[in-house]
Amino acid sequence: RQSWMERLKAGLRKTGSSIATVFTGTQINDALYEELEDALLMADTGVKATQHLLEDLKRRVKDTKTTEPAAVKALLADALTDLLKPLEKQLTIGEHQPTVVMVAGVNGAGKTTSIGKLTKHLADSDQTVLLAAADTFRAAAREQLGVWANRNTVEIISQEGGDPAAVSFDAVSAGKARKKDVVLVDTAGRLPTQLHLMEELRKIKRVVNKADGTAPHEVLLVIDGNTGQNALAQVRAFDDALQLTGLIVTKLDGTAKGGVLAAIAQERPIPVYFIGVGEKIEDLETFSAREFSQALLS
Ligand code: GDP
Repeated sequence: RQSWMERLKAGLRKTGSSIATVFTGTQINDALYEELEDALLMADTGVKATQHLLEDLKRRVKDTKTTEPAAVKALLADALTDLLKPLEKQLTIGEHQPTVVMVAGVNGAGKTTSIGKLTKHLADSDQTVLLAAADTFRAAAREQLGVWANRNTVEIISQEGGDPAAVSFDAVSAGKARKKDVVLVDTAGRLPTQLHLMEELRKIKRVVNKADGTAPHEVLLVIDGNTGQNALAQVRAFDDALQLTGLIVTKLDGTAKGGVLAAIAQERPIPVYFIGVGEKIEDLETFSAREFSQALLS
């Protein structure tokens, strides 16, 4: 089985190969920068981040008096690392008991899987976890979360067809009474309209705060790294509605659109607490700007 870095590299190679080929020529000229611009846009880096990276890169090339295209690639890795650096942050648990973490994301993004992985990650560092199944609409969502709860042998608060905010309130109260370290609240990913979804999520956030005046302590959004600019649009919408504190970016083991992280860093520099690099429970890693940049351009 490949290491996570190998899987990340293998995935990002789909994004990066077209970027890397830009530097195989012999000259640094306008054509090279134009090709690079196209490759970055193709990788879903977005217009703003692409312009930022090109300007930053040209400045670095000038300052270092670089003349070899191959060396420009290394400078691009530095520029990208600097751009992504603000996204590097650890999820901290322990300031509150329980730390209440609300998790949002559109269906299919990998939310439930990420909650399962995160539960294991926390349990591995001796944190006790309580899960809240606040997606009360979809029976399948509740069941799937139940499977992850069993796999991790943690308790779950779930109620068929109940009010999502009420389930969340109960879970936070239970988390306090049972002295859990973390309560993870799994929310719905789709309702009849997007407007309803945001309303419901805001309500959960409000009601959780009634159960514990300092909660929620984290509001995470799970995005599918393979959806590129769509993922960025989701970050904007959920951040506007919920004031996100962190992101989990999934499926980076198979994406051709890894550049979206640069777009996020440019427009909404919300910490990327974790990245998903596979479907298995252990396939969750902390984000490193340097490692990501190197994998992207490898
Ligand atoms: P949800 O609807 O957001 O809860 O999404 P799920 O957690 O059910 O995941 C949707 C699909 O994506 C499932 O088949 C997962 O196995 C898969 N998935 C989730 N995270 C990753 C990841 O990091 N890498 C890969 N390759 N697949 C993932």
